[in-house]
Amino acid sequence: AREGGWTASPGSGGLVTAIAPVLQNRGGLWIGWPGTVDEGLAEEDLAAAMDQAAEQSGFDLTPVMLTEEEKNGFYYGFSNEVLWPLFHDLVKRCNFLPEYWPAYRRVNKKFARKIKEKRQSNDYVWVHDYHLMGVGEALRQLGVEDRIGFFLHIPFPSPDIFARLPWRFEILRALLHYDMVGFQTMRDRRNFTHCVRTFVPGVAIHGRGAVVTFRFRERDVRVGAFPISIDFNEFAEAAATKEVSDLAWEIHEQLSEKQIILGVDRLDYTKGIPERLRAYRYLLENYPDLHEKVVFVQVVVPSRADIPEYRDLKAEIEGLVSEINGMFTRCAWVPVHYQYRSLSREELIAYYRTSEMALITPLKDGMNLIAKEFCASSLEPCCVLILSEFAGAAAQFQRGALLVNPHDQEGIAKAIHKAFHMPHKERVGRMKRLRAAVKRHDIYEWVNSFLQASFARKLESFPAVEDYTPRMSFSTGGAGGFSAFEEEWAESA
Ligand code: UDP
Repeated sequence: AREGGWTASPGSGGLVTAIAPVLQNRGGLWIGWPGTVDEGLAEEDLAAAMDQAAEQSGFDLTPVMLTEEEKNGFYYGFSNEVLWPLFHDLVKRCNFLPEYWPAYRRVNKKFARKIKEKRQSNDYVWVHDYHLMGVGEALRQLGVEDRIGFFLHIPFPSPDIFARLPWRFEILRALLHYDMVGFQTMRDRRNFTHCVRTFVPGVAIHGRGAVVTFRFRERDVRVGAFPISIDFNEFAEAAATKEVSDLAWEIHEQLSEKQIILGVDRLDYTKGIPERLRAYRYLLENYPDLHEKVVFVQVVVPSRADIPEYRDLKAEIEGLVSEINGMFTRCAWVPVHYQYRSLSREELIAYYRTSEMALITPLKDGMNLIAKEFCASSLEPCCVLILSEFAGAAAQFQRGALLVNPHDQEGIAKAIHKAFHMPHKERVGRMKRLRAAVKRHDIYEWVNSFLQASFARKLESFPAVEDYTPRMSFSTGGAGGFSAFEEEWAESA
């Protein structure tokens, strides 16, 4: 809220970055929760903010409003205190409160009702992420028999972790109401398959390869791995603009020409930020030859700041930054440059472009788009990507990145040391391979492969949007689901 009304802006995070270019290019309707509650909100203020957001984003938006109670039970509760930690293998952080489950189901039904109301005949409904796993089942209960796809942006856990979930049967059965269920990696798909085999009797699994078919109660559910990506050209072109190039030089000059090691993450305990800072401290303790030669720029983007656990994490990060800087700073050198803020697009790409290394070490991550954006923006291909082996992106980047275990301080320190001393030729060879992989498998290829597997159609089959005029309102803010590909698309399908 701003003085005199509301403003809306796109949420930060992988989902928005990945989907927005596709919707802008091809049209569609995004149905999502704007991240605010409907109590005490003047409807016309919200509508104005939504219209402005629709105009900015370039596609139609429809809000699903939540009450304070729904926000607490569904969003903070079941989504972020149960599913988020559990699916990232952090069982100890889970809070399995019984009242969260009915709130989750209620809100999923609310989304289903809104989709049913807004959908036009032949729409393809594509539901996104862990907040909305039950929407498909709720739509079926409302009599919707259209094709519905679901994509999980976060990892899917192995059966021994998933078994802890008190609602394990309900969640698996809910997912079996979609026609297509997509995961980020083969690892996630394999885990899902094992969970279904373990907990749902009567499912027959056919096929091999990237997409297999589950037969359950006379319904065929296709299940596949579709690694999400970015709009490579958009990042590469933005990185080449004068504005970004000038800013990139400026940043490097102000950091006194040291080699820059970059970390960019949302504030989240899955991103491994304290673990990374400890590894950097270990590096400075054990490799004094790098003193005054490297700086670690860690950008932490504010996220879920009203959850106490996230506030504690921020305090832990800030304690470590002060400690490291207190120990190692010398007159002309501050070893950690810490920024707690959201960057503008230009700044972010300038940081990507100017940094010699990216240090991306999540404890577990569905994909990690920062890693892909760094590669796409690295126009001087002599930069090194140091990546956690538990990020989804690691599966595609085995040969180009230096893969590390985010819990292994010594291993991370060695990787930084190796990157620092890596011969120019090897750096270039690795980064060229990484850039080629991101370019070949970009966001459009991701949508294509999902659509192709869902109903044998590619993105080109749908006309590109010209002369876009916004029609409705929206936003996103955490929970996002959208029903895309309206009539004109469907007709040609
Ligand atoms: N990002 C952002 N604002 C910033 C910094 C980053 O919106 O100040 C974006 C970034 O471009 C990337 C996304 O946040 O697309 C992070 O996606 P990722 O998959 O790495 O992690 P997530 O936050 O979805 O867990």
